[in-house]
Parts: sequence; structure tokens; C-alpha cells
Amino acid sequence: ATPTALMAGVGRGAQLGILIKGPDALEASRSVDTVVLDKTGTVTTGKMTVTDCRPADGFTMPEVLRFAGAVEAGSEHAIATAVVTAARAGLPGLPPVDGFCALPGLGARGEVDGHEVLVGNTRLLADRGIPVPADVAEGLAAAEGEGATAILVALDGRVAGFLVIRDVVKPSARAAVDALHALGLRTVLLTGDNEAAARAVADEVGVTDVRAGVLPAEKAQVIDALRAGGARVAMVGDGINDGPALATADLGMAMAKGSDIALRSADVVLVREDLHVVPDAIRLADRTLRIIR
Ligand code: ADP
Ligand code: MG
Repeated sequence: ATPTALMAGVGRGAQLGILIKGPDALEASRSVDTVVLDKTGTVTTGKMTVTDCRPADGFTMPEVLRFAGAVEAGSEHAIATAVVTAARAGLPGLPPVDGFCALPGLGARGEVDGHEVLVGNTRLLADRGIPVPADVAEGLAAAEGEGATAILVALDGRVAGFLVIRDVVKPSARAAVDALHALGLRTVLLTGDNEAAARAVADEVGVTDVRAGVLPAEKAQVIDALRAGGARVAMVGDGINDGPALATADLGMAMAKGSDIALRSADVVLVREDLHVVPDAIRLADRTLRIIR
């Protein structure tokens, strides 16, 4: 391998918004056969909005927004940002939260006005043994069936309602996935989000292999299992939760808007937001190393 050709590849990468951390990353980029895409912030923009607020019997919409907004003010999750934005827009102010605690892959908890408040997915409520009323469960399933993320709000162990949150698929995602397939690569969508929402996004972009409801700590295990099956895996992520998965993959690619941890665990940092940057990186590695040989 000539250092000059390698340097040229790294330089060409920089022009394309692909920051390669050394020659090993180029070699790994060329040999991968499977690309695992994190959903939120990688395949989607990650800019979420609350599109509906549905109180349960005995609660009102402002109550649901107020308690959810107060707790989520303590969280940095994209879902939390959406909830706080909606609550601030609809209410005069938000009460303070005490004892805030982020529950990775599940939601968040805190005390508001002396009430114990939980905000998160059905798994969170199931873990705490909180029953979801049939009508709420129905509304929630309908929202998820349309590809939305539904977030339950519980007050002192009782479901107060749920919020419907929507994210949008990046305009570049479908063509980028097609390009990966054209390169002979297998694609997998990985997410902590619910199965129905994950399926809706996967269908929209043309990915058939979906791993949904995966807790942050389990994401690296999914990568490990694929590798144990003989795959050479590239993981593309952005999130606070993707660090271990990026480090476990043969090639970790981090979207640059992601967390510091994701960037540090990555072999390649992608500084373009459009998803074409992923097939671009793999093609670049192939070309660079072919020149070298
Ligand atoms: P992803 O894999 O899409 O990056 P996460 O692992 O961060 O997702 O979260 C998975 C799921 O956990 C979310 O879809 C949501 O249901 C729930 N969740 C996580 N954090 C929060 C939060 N702050 N508020 C509400 N729900 C949350
Ligand atoms: Mg993520």
C-alpha cells in the first residue's frame, strides 16, 4: 500500500464529508457486507414533533402536556425536545421537576407537583406493572400502525394519556439504501423504537430486515450476533446509545451531529446529513484500495 494513495483517499473522503480515521478504516469499509442503520437521526431526520395528545378517562389534555413536559424538560432525548416544545407552546409555563431520572430505551421519570410521573413506552409501564386501559391501548396501537411513536404518561401509577410523536425519513434515505443494495450489501434497520414504527420506516426506505424494541445495551449484542453469523458489519449511528454498537462493529460510522461518545467510538465520521454519504464512503474505500493494490 502506498501512503500517497492512502492519503489521496483520505483527502478525497474529506471533500465528500467522510472523515476517515486511518488506513484500517478504509480496509474495513471495503470488506463490509452488511450495513446496520440506526433509525432515529440516521435514516430519519430525528427532528420530531408532537402531532396529538390523547388524555385517558379522568384527565385533560393540558394535564397530560403539563406533566409530560415538566419531566421531559430534564431529558436530552429527541422525543423529550418535541414534548417540551409542544408543552411550552400550549401552556403558560411548566412546573419544575424533582428527582429526574432518564431511563434509556424506556423513557424518563420525575416528581411534579408532588406526583410521581413516568413518560415513556409500553415496555416502561409494563416493567412498573402499570395497566394500560383498553381504549388507550387501542389508540396507541393505531398511531404506531401509522408509523408514529406513542409515548405514555402515567401519574402516580395511573395512565393519564399518551402523546403521538412523528419523525420524518430523510429525503435521501430511499436512494441511499438502493445504492447500498446495488453495491451488493445487506441492510438492517436497528432501533429502540416500537416494531410498527420501525416497519413503516423500513418499508419507506426499502429495508426488509428490522430489529426493533432493542434496548441501548442490547444494540451491541445485535451487532455481535451478526458478526458471529459470519457477517462483516458496518454500523451507522448518531445517538447517545450507539457508542458500544459502533465500537463493536467491524466499521463504526457516526453521523457528525451525534453525541461525542458516538464520534469517539467511530472509525469514520460522516459530516454530511444526507444518507448518500454511506454508499459514498464504501465506494471510496473500494476505489482507494484498488488503486493501491
Ligand atoms: P433509538 O433506537 O430510535 O435511537 P432510543 O433507544 O433512544 O431510540 O429510545 C427507544 C424508545 O425508548 C423510544 O422510542 C421511546 O419509546 C423510549 N424513550 C427513550 N427516551 C425517552 C424519553 N426521554 N421520553 C420518552 N420516551 C423515551
Ligand atoms: Mg438513535
